[in-house]
Amino acid sequence: MFSKARKRKVFWLVLLTVVIFMLYFSTTMIGRKYHNSFIEIYGLKFLPTTINGSLQALIFILCIVLVFIDSFWGTGIALAFSILSISSVMRTVVKDLNLLNIPGVFNGVFNVLAIAFIGWQVRVRNKRRVTDSVTGLKNRVGFTEMLGDYEIQKRKCYLLYIHLDGFSDVNTRLGRNYGDEILRMVAGRIEETIQGKGHAFSIGGAEYAVLLNEEVEFGQMADDLVKKISEKLVLKGENDVQVDVYVTPKIGVASNIDENITSEELMNNADVTMSFANKSDTTSVVVYNDDVKAKVKRKSKLASLVKEALENGYFYHVYQPQYKLDGRKLRGFESLLRMKLPSGEIVSPAEFIPVAENSSLILEIDSYVLRSSMKQFRDICRKSEDLTLSVNVSAKAFERPDFPKKLLALIEELDFPKKCLEIEITEYSLADSIYQTIENIQKLRAEGIQIALDDFGKGYTSLAQVLRLPITLLKVDKSLIDNVESSDANKDFVKTVIYLGHVMECEVIAEGVEKEGQLEYLKEYNCDLVQGFVWSHPLPYEEAISLAEKSI
Ligand code: C2E
Ligand code: CA
Ligand code: CA
Repeated sequence: MFSKARKRKVFWLVLLTVVIFMLYFSTTMIGRKYHNSFIEIYGLKFLPTTINGSLQALIFILCIVLVFIDSFWGTGIALAFSILSISSVMRTVVKDLNLLNIPGVFNGVFNVLAIAFIGWQVRVRNKRRVTDSVTGLKNRVGFTEMLGDYEIQKRKCYLLYIHLDGFSDVNTRLGRNYGDEILRMVAGRIEETIQGKGHAFSIGGAEYAVLLNEEVEFGQMADDLVKKISEKLVLKGENDVQVDVYVTPKIGVASNIDENITSEELMNNADVTMSFANKSDTTSVVVYNDDVKAKVKRKSKLASLVKEALENGYFYHVYQPQYKLDGRKLRGFESLLRMKLPSGEIVSPAEFIPVAENSSLILEIDSYVLRSSMKQFRDICRKSEDLTLSVNVSAKAFERPDFPKKLLALIEELDFPKKCLEIEITEYSLADSIYQTIENIQKLRAEGIQIALDDFGKGYTSLAQVLRLPITLLKVDKSLIDNVESSDANKDFVKTVIYLGHVMECEVIAEGVEKEGQLEYLKEYNCDLVQGFVWSHPLPYEEAISLAEKSI
C-alpha cells in the first residue's frame, strides 16, 4: 500500500490539480456569463478579458508547477491530468462539432503537449541526475535521497558498503574500459544477489551501497555477496582474447534498527566499518558494533591528540641503526617518531600516523620530523659524510610539486650535508601521481639526496612502475623476511627482490630482521644492508649519537 509520505505527496498534488480545474471552470464561467453582458451592457470590454487572461496564465503556470513537482515525486498525477485535459478537449469537439471551437482545441492540445514535453524532459534529467552512467545503478545522489526518505519515514534498514579490493590495481593494469566493464559486471552480480530484497547503488569509485529491508537476514546476504562478487570475472579483450580477473569485496554493515540515528550517521557508520574490513586480512565482512565504535572513538581522540602533540611538543624521535650486512659496519639511522602523552603513555606511530594521514596533519608532522631530525643529526653528519639519516615522508607530502623546493630550502637553512639525507617513500606515493613522484625523485637525486622505497613487497606495486623509479635503496618489507627461513616460496621471492634491486642499480636493505638464521639467507642472497631487532632496536637520540661517534 501507499506509505504515509507518498499519501501526503499525492494529497498535495490532487489539491493542486483541483485548484487548477476550479480556475479553469472559473474562466469558462467568466467567459460565458459576462462575455455578452459586460461587453454589450457596460462596454467594459477589458475587465472580463483581463481577468480571464490572467486566470489562464495562472493555470498555465500552475500546470507547469504540477508537472515539475510530479516529475520529482513520481506520482503520475500530472500524466493523469494531461490525459484528462486532452479527453475533455476532445469531448468538446466531438459533442459540439463546432468548428469555431477548433482554435481553442488546438490551444488546449498544444498546452497539454508542451506541458507533457517539459515533464518528460524534467523526468529524463532527473533520472540522469540520480543514475550512475557506468553501472546504470542509482548514484550517490540517488542514494542519499533515498536514505533521506528512509529517515523521514523512520524506516529501519541495514546498510552495506562494499569496496572492491584490488580494483584500482586492475584498473591501472588493464585500462579504464576494462575497469568500467568490471564495475558493470559487479553491479549486475549485486542486483542478482539481493533479488529485490533491497536497493543497490553505485556510490563512486569502486564502491557500492546496498540498502536492505529490516526483515532480511543481512549476515547471510553479506556472505552471499562476497561469494558472488569474488567469482571469476571473464572479460573479452582485443581479438576476443579472454582476460580473467578477480576482485575481493570488503563489506561494512551498519543499521539503524537498534539506535535512532540520522541517515548521515548511518552512512558514516557503514563507511568506517568498511574501512576496518578493508584493513583486515582475515575477514571480508565487518559489522558495526561496540568494538568498532570504540576504535572510531580512539581514532577521533588520536586526531585531536596529534594536534595537541604538535602544539605542546609531545613528539620525540628514536633512531634505528642500519648496518652493512658484510662486516656489520654502521651505515646510518632511520628516524622513527614517538608520541608521549602527559599521562606517560607512549603512542606508536603505527597508530597515530594513519590517523594523521587522513587529514592535512600529516603534512605538519612530516615537516616537523624533517626539521627536528636534521637538526639533531646535522653536527654528526658534518663530521662523517658517510653516515645516512633516513626520514619517512608521507605520500601526501612527497607528491606535492613544491616538495623538492621546500626541502632544499630547509637543507640550506639548517646547513645539512645533502648526501647524508635519505627520504623514505612508500608505494602509496606512486598510486595517485606517479609522474609527479618521479619528477620529485629526479629533482632530489640531482641534488645528491638519496631516495628509499619503503615496505617493498607488502603491497601490490606493479613491477613495471618500480623499475622506472630512480631510487637508491629498496627496503624489503618485514613480512617477507619473517618467513624467509620456513617457506621456500618466500626464499625465492626475497632472492628475486634482492636481485631486482641490484638490476635497478640500487642497494637493498632487509627490514625487521629478528633472527640470526634470517641473516644467513640474506647473506647468501647478497643483500647489502640490514635493519632489525637482531642487531639493534630503535635507540634514544643520545645513544644513537654515541653509537655514531664510535663508528667514525
Ligand atoms: P617503517 O617505516 O616500516 O618503520 C619500521 C618499523 O618497524 C618501526 O616501527 C620499527 O620500530 C619496526 N621495526 C624495526 N625492526 C624491527 C624488528 O626487527 N621487528 C619488529 N617487530 N619491528 C621492527 P615504528 O617505529 O612503530 O613505526 C611504524 C611505522 O610508522 C613506520 O614503519 C612508518 O611507516 C611510520 N612512521 C614512523 N615514524 C614516522 C615518521 O617520522 N614520519 C612518518 N611519515 N611515518 C613514520
Ligand atoms: Ca620507513
Ligand atoms: Ca618499512
